Amino acid sequence: MNKTTTINAYAANEAGGSLEPFTYEVGELKPNEVEIDVLYCGICHSDLSMVDNEWGMSEYPLVGGHEIIGKVSSVGENVVHLEIGGTVGLGWHSGYCGHCESCHSGDENLCASAEGTIVARHGGFADKVRADAASVIVVPEGIDLKSAGPLLCGGITVFNPLVQFDVKSTDKVAVIGIGGLGHIALKFLSKWGCEVTAFTSSESKREEALKLGAHKTLNSRDEAEIEAAAYSFDFIISTVNVKLDWNLYINTLRPKGRLHFVGATLEPLDIGAFPLIMGQRSVSGSPVGSPATIEQMFDFANRHQIQPQVEMFPMSDINKAFDRLKSGEARYRIVLSNE
Ligand code: NAP
Ligand code: ZN
Ligand code: ZN
Repeated sequence: MNKTTTINAYAANEAGGSLEPFTYEVGELKPNEVEIDVLYCGICHSDLSMVDNEWGMSEYPLVGGHEIIGKVSSVGENVVHLEIGGTVGLGWHSGYCGHCESCHSGDENLCASAEGTIVARHGGFADKVRADAASVIVVPEGIDLKSAGPLLCGGITVFNPLVQFDVKSTDKVAVIGIGGLGHIALKFLSKWGCEVTAFTSSESKREEALKLGAHKTLNSRDEAEIEAAAYSFDFIISTVNVKLDWNLYINTLRPKGRLHFVGATLEPLDIGAFPLIMGQRSVSGSPVGSPATIEQMFDFANRHQIQPQVEMFPMSDINKAFDRLKSGEARYRIVLSNE
């Protein structure tokens, strides 16, 4: 049987272009694939960067959307762990090679051949999406579906470092940038047991950050405030996509502290070696997490009732939703709905 499916999506046709209705056909489902009816899809800053071709790897027409919650509508003949009608999530990755050292180690998120859901394939700003079953996560009972999409990229990106670097409940942790990723980081860290500081450039977010779980707030662009926080933090997660004065931040680390980048700041880091050497401090980065870590995150979020704070837009208002993201006013993640 040679069945084709028509998928109705929204695509950018050029760098920086608006999102226009776009229909494409897909052939028969591959043996390891599933097809998902998209219920909700979050908008990550990376979708905007891909639409704008900021990273030089966009292909047009570009269908963004990699914070997907949906129902399985079809499964390939080799898929055993997913059922038609099951509620699932799909994030940045849509498949892994399955046989490299990283895949064999359970670090599929580090697989050099992993496929990006919106890189040379079409993502979740659509009524349907397809992916390799290995990257599709069962969403457990108890998770609020409308707000869960952002966990699949924003959430796992800030949860994964806590696992990878063994962040302890006694640690003092700071988050730079309280946007989509940063606000979820505050929620996770406060339940993780840490002392949490929010660095924000938006004065209006300082009060809000305390409600999200921060114990303290500082202005991320105020040199004097940052200097006054010298030797304060064991771990800093930067979620901003802009250049800040990183040497000032290094000085806020305690001995053996770590400045960890998840925000895709494009300008090279200009960091002095001495403050690293003298305090045995580290600088690092990481992508999203493996399927097992995503499952762990869902379990943690469920137990502590952690939900991203979202603004809902109908999928058809996708351009308004993108304008809202660009305005910097979104509180804190925008989710598109097909309901
Ligand atoms: P977002 O919602 O737009 O949040 C970014 C935050 O950065 C803003 O809310 C703002 O926080 C801060 N910011 C923006 N401009 C600033 C400026 N000029 N000075 C100081 N702070 C500024 O974006 P997001 O979706 O959280 O994504 C953040 C970054 O992470 C993006 O680069 C995205 O591509 C990247 N990302 C990486 C991964 C990964 O795998 N590593 C995964 C997802 C996303 P305040 O208002 O609090 O200052
Ligand atoms: Zn691999
Ligand atoms: Zn993302």
